[in-house]
Amino acid sequence: MFKIKHADSTTEARTGELKTAHGIAKTPFFMPVATKLTVKHVTPMELEEMDTQAIITNAYIDSLRPGLDIIKKYGGVHKLMNFHRTIFSDSGGFQTLSDTFLQEATDKGAKFTDPFSGVVKQHTPEQIIQIERELGSDVAMCLDHVPKKGMTAEQVADATRRTHLWAERCKRYHDAHDNKDYYDRRQLLFGIAQGGLDKNLREKSAEFMNKLDFDGVAMGGLCIGEKKEEMFNAVKWQIPHFSKDKPRYLMGVGSPEDIIEAVSLGVDCFDSIYPTQNARHCHIFTSKGTIKLDRGKYREDMSPLDPECDCYVCKNFTRAYLHHLSRSFEWTHHRYLSYHNVYFVVKFVERLRKALDKGEFKDFKKEFLQEYKKMGKDR
Ligand SMILES: [Zn+2]
Repeated sequence: MFKIKHADSTTEARTGELKTAHGIAKTPFFMPVATKLTVKHVTPMELEEMDTQAIITNAYIDSLRPGLDIIKKYGGVHKLMNFHRTIFSDSGGFQTLSDTFLQEATDKGAKFTDPFSGVVKQHTPEQIIQIERELGSDVAMCLDHVPKKGMTAEQVADATRRTHLWAERCKRYHDAHDNKDYYDRRQLLFGIAQGGLDKNLREKSAEFMNKLDFDGVAMGGLCIGEKKEEMFNAVKWQIPHFSKDKPRYLMGVGSPEDIIEAVSLGVDCFDSIYPTQNARHCHIFTSKGTIKLDRGKYREDMSPLDPECDCYVCKNFTRAYLHHLSRSFEWTHHRYLSYHNVYFVVKFVERLRKALDKGEFKDFKKEFLQEYKKMGKDR
């Protein structure tokens, strides 16, 4: 299921292989987000070509639209999306952060408003796991209650306690169904540790999830507006409580500098809308930092987005042309810029993996960060 290939001697970083029903995902890996069964502006063919190891969709949203009846007709999300590598499904736990979705979280489950119909419906942890089985994802995530910014210490503790209760029920239900998804393949299940920004809660939550012996463990409720230092503290508090032989997934992180830092702390998987969301706002990743392409200074810039990137967009178009498309609100600029940003992060993690395997991680990290910070803030 998960095999460590190479452990770095100077940090906690490691490379490994996560075996799922759709092949081997090499760790560390970054997952582009396909909330509504598509990565925004990037096709599955392109994702496979750039060697994306895995993507993540959202079970709760998918169950509303297009609906499980349609997904089942296709034989699951892989066939529906025509993506044949590892697919994770988030449970809908992230929606507990949203006032649009969450009406109430009780020990029984989460009461969500369907944003399409306005209907309020209770979702128990068992129902969410059943949805994930019917999606046929390779890795299902437990339902969790993510503590919101501004919650009192008592509320954070209560949400963490509820997350534990729900995790036990998710695991029991998953195990009772032979650990198989709806399509008679083995589906993996990951638990999500929470705990807000409280050291004691974070440690206890990590210990709790580790004891439940999931196929992997995630750290949730981070990268949602807290300071970088607070986020990395939470990671540092939790990692020592996870077994070394299980994959560790930091949810919601997708910037190159955060990924490399988290990898050195021992994280194996990431997901984030960061590359595609940034692309839509013309924030472009380059080897020397982020550029804001719709600024006037790029109007006559005849260089590629990133001279060191070998993606289709960088090989064929100039900053000046892409600047023109973005200023003209042509839809193709979303395609090109999203493609480049996703490619940049996927290839960055690939290089990071290779450096780890060669025992050169320390130098790679130092050189990458030195270059990446060169540009400063281009705003
Ligand atoms: Zn590129």
